[in-house]
Amino acid sequence: MTFIDEYRDPALIRGLLAAVAREAAGIGRSVTLMEVCGSHTYAIGRYGLKKLLPENIRLVSGPGCPVCVTSVADVDRALYLASRPGVTFSTFGDMMRVPGSGGRSLQKLRAEGADIRIISSAMQAADFALQVPERGIVLMGIGFETTAPTVASAVLGWQKKNLKNVCLYSVHKLVPPALKALVDDAGLRPELKIDGFICPGHVSTITGTAAYSVITEAGRAAAITGFEPSDILQGILMILKQIAEGRPGVEIQYSRGVSGNGNPRARQVMDSVFRTADAEWRGLGMIPGSGLALRDEYAVFDAGARFEIPPLKSTEPPGCRCGDILRGIREPAGCPLFKKACTPASPVGPCMVSSEGTCAAHFKYGE
Ligand code: SF4
Repeated sequence: MTFIDEYRDPALIRGLLAAVAREAAGIGRSVTLMEVCGSHTYAIGRYGLKKLLPENIRLVSGPGCPVCVTSVADVDRALYLASRPGVTFSTFGDMMRVPGSGGRSLQKLRAEGADIRIISSAMQAADFALQVPERGIVLMGIGFETTAPTVASAVLGWQKKNLKNVCLYSVHKLVPPALKALVDDAGLRPELKIDGFICPGHVSTITGTAAYSVITEAGRAAAITGFEPSDILQGILMILKQIAEGRPGVEIQYSRGVSGNGNPRARQVMDSVFRTADAEWRGLGMIPGSGLALRDEYAVFDAGARFEIPPLKSTEPPGCRCGDILRGIREPAGCPLFKKACTPASPVGPCMVSSEGTCAAHFKYGE
C-alpha cells in the first residue's frame, strides 16, 4: 500500500460514510456545506463524493478557483498589457484560455503573434528579463495566499538584482475577505445560507486558522481539510459534529500539512512586498481589502504604473452564469450554455477553463 492508498482505503471510506450518515441523521434537517476551494471541487467530482453523501447534506462550490474569480475587467487589462509592443507577458497556464470581453484570450493573442509565455514559477520572470533585456517583462501574479508569497519573493529578487525591465500585474486575492462576504447573509448572500465551510488545506498552510475567524464569528462551522477522499469525508464529519453539538469553530483535519499558526515566514515575506487593496471578484463584486497591490517601496515594479492602462469597457460572456456558480446559487447544469456552447475544448466562461473550475469538474465527472 502506498502513502496515498492509505487515504483511499475502501474500509476507511465506508466507515467514514457511515459516521457521516449517522451524524446527518441526528441533525435531522438539510445542511449546506461550501467547499471554498477549487481543488476540493475537483476532488469531490473525481471521487464521486456528492453521490455518496446522505440526502440532507448538500455541497456547493465556492469562489476558491483563482482564475475563475478573476474579473473580466482584470482579464481585459491583462490582454491590454500583453498586446503592448515590446512586451513579453508571462503567466500561469490556466490563465491562457480565460475569455475576456468579446471572447478574446491570452491564447488567441499569442496565436496572433504576441510574446506570451506560460510559466510554472514566478522566478522565471527574472530569467526572461536577463535573456531579453531589450524587452519589458510583465508577470501576471494570480492566486491566493498560497502563491502570493512566492511572487513576493520574486519581486524581492528583482530588486536585489536591480532588474529594470520587469514588472508585476497583480490580481492576487485574499481568502478571508471573500469568506466574510460569503457569511454575510444580510449582505451579499441572502439567497443561500451556508451552515459550514470546507476550508482549503493548501491556503491554510500559510494562513493557519486565523484566516477563518470570520466563520466562527458568524456562528458557522469549519474544517481545514486535505484533498484525499478520506480527508474530505473526515472534514465533513468534523463540520457535522460541530453543527450537531452547537459548537461552531475551526478544526484542522489536515494536520499533516497545517499548523494553527500557518507559516509566519511566508506571511512576513508577502506582507513586506504587498499591501491590501480593494479587488473585484467575478460573482462577488468589489470586496474591500481583498486584493494585493505592491507597497510603495516596490512601486517601480508595478505594471499599472509603468503602462498607463486606459479605461476599458468590459463585458461578461453573454449567457455565462459563472458569477452565480461562484456564489453557490446555481449549478453548472443551470447554465443554458453548459455542455452546449461551453465545453472544456471551447470554454465560454472561466469556470470551464481551469480543472479547478466547477463547470469543468461537472463536465468531466458528471453532476
Ligand atoms: Fe460559464 Fe460555461 Fe459554466 Fe455556463 S457552463 S457558467 S458559460 S463556464
